[in-house]
Amino acid sequence: MEIPRGQLLRADSFEADETLRCDVVVIGTGAGGAAAGMRLAEAGLSVVFLEEGRKWEAHELSNKQSWAVRNLYAERGTSLALGNIFLPMPRGKAVGGTTLINSGICFRTPDFVLKRWREQYGVAWADLDGLAPTFQTIEDAVGAVRTDESVWRRHNELFRDGCVALKLEGHQAIVRNAPGCVGCGLCQVGCPVGGKGSVDRNLIPRALAAGAAVLSCARATKVLVENGVAVGVEAYGVDPVLEQRKRRIEVRAKKVFLCAGAVSTPSFLLRQKLANSNGRVGKNLHVHTALGVVGKFDEVVDGWHGAVQGYFVRLPGENAVLETFSASPDIYSVQYEVYSKPMRQLRHLAACGVMIGDTAEGTVSPGANEPRSFVSYDTNAEDVRVIKKGIRQISAIYFAAGATEVHTGFSRSSPLKSLAELDALLAEPRPWDQMNIYASHPMSSCAMGADKAWSVVKPDGETWDVKNLVIADASVFPTSLGVNPQITVMTVASTIAQLQLKAGG
Ligand SMILES: Cc1cc2nc3c(=O)[nH]c(=O)nc-3n(C[C@H](O)[C@H](O)[C@H](O)COP(=O)(O)OP(=O)(O)OC[C@H]3O[C@@H](n4cnc5c(N)ncnc54)[C@H](O)[C@@H]3O)c2cc1C
Repeated sequence: MEIPRGQLLRADSFEADETLRCDVVVIGTGAGGAAAGMRLAEAGLSVVFLEEGRKWEAHELSNKQSWAVRNLYAERGTSLALGNIFLPMPRGKAVGGTTLINSGICFRTPDFVLKRWREQYGVAWADLDGLAPTFQTIEDAVGAVRTDESVWRRHNELFRDGCVALKLEGHQAIVRNAPGCVGCGLCQVGCPVGGKGSVDRNLIPRALAAGAAVLSCARATKVLVENGVAVGVEAYGVDPVLEQRKRRIEVRAKKVFLCAGAVSTPSFLLRQKLANSNGRVGKNLHVHTALGVVGKFDEVVDGWHGAVQGYFVRLPGENAVLETFSASPDIYSVQYEVYSKPMRQLRHLAACGVMIGDTAEGTVSPGANEPRSFVSYDTNAEDVRVIKKGIRQISAIYFAAGATEVHTGFSRSSPLKSLAELDALLAEPRPWDQMNIYASHPMSSCAMGADKAWSVVKPDGETWDVKNLVIADASVFPTSLGVNPQITVMTVASTIAQLQLKAGG
């Protein structure tokens, strides 16, 4: 088959097995795959993307969470990590990857994180000034702009009011790649108006315009390796809902870019026993553990209206951020059940989460059946200390904004009328799994670094073990970030693509 240049085709509709030849085959079209593939295609290479999920247009999306998890989320939205806490850990499966269902928050990598990557892990190019042009190119391409006050709505305003009342420093509206946001509060089921710049709307179309091809509904199953060199990928057309395998597709390429995300990338390698001579594939997983607090106000807030995550402030002295969030009434009613009888109480809630640069480490292994993964993650005392500090700070902000009570979401706890009541709760020696911790940022499970004994890939993204097999997604971070990762993923992937171009196509 000739490469269908500039086209996006559904591989589950192929009527015969196919073989294609190109310069680079990219597995995954999320933040990393899209950024790397665009960079390579715009440099003139022939690029074929393989993406397990399908392409969605804004008008095809539904505002129902139940529909979204079935169609847009990996493992039908049931992915989680198990350990000393129960940890839901969703991720996307679609052209655009997790960016299709994310909140659009855009942060550059903190300077001190890059310094650590440079000085402790030998990633010489990890430098904020040196990366500034790449950050800028990515931010411009995805449409990163500060959330306009017109779409904040009440839940973001109340958080801002509390920060003002406490005279906190640095609180501000969040920069998001949502230039066309109308404040409908539906980012995480896919933007229904096309106002969010998920990468299926910008980086992927740019790659297509440069001659790349996207095969959607195509699951990569194997890296083809000859004499220690990656020479292509075996994939199958897959029905995106039923997951039945269809026709076999072989893509022969000079380089393979593996960008399946920080859960699927290591489990894909481990299933094949590939690139793991030092046993580090799937280790060192970080996830940005997070926990939500709601404030209850006398006024009607209708926290599901407005930019989902529109306002933030850093947690003083810690590598952590406090970010507002909204969710649909059904989610609030499950998480904060005490307010669901009668349900009209939910109209009075505003919510904010503490998200931390976690120090605990987890592990990814392949699940029993392809493409399932098994993730284990134990939190630790240091991370719980920071989460509790964040809970206290959010509560102080809401009380300062006029909240009559706050709720931490801890199992078997009640609404709290004052900071003194909260302090008593936080001091209780409760099992950590009574805290409703959540994580949506798996990363660093195939870390890059200069130490061959510790890292899975070199600082230029190529695996130590298999020549021409390159990883360019959230898995290559050496550490946790402490800020939402998509801009870092795209910048790192674009840099890796550039380094591979320099190394010879
Ligand atoms: C609900 C939610 C909200 C979030 N909000 C934000 C936010 O506001 N800001 C932010 O910075 N980050 C956010 N994130 C995280 C961010 O979107 C991810 O960190 C980022 O998209 C990761 O990029 P990636 O390329 O590593 O993986 P992904 O974007 O997940 O892309 C991986 C792609 O690979 C595909 N794939 C996997 N295996 C295969 C295979 N075998 N064959 C073919 N294709 C395969 C998957 O289907 C997927 O499309 C959020 C995440 C979630 C879940």
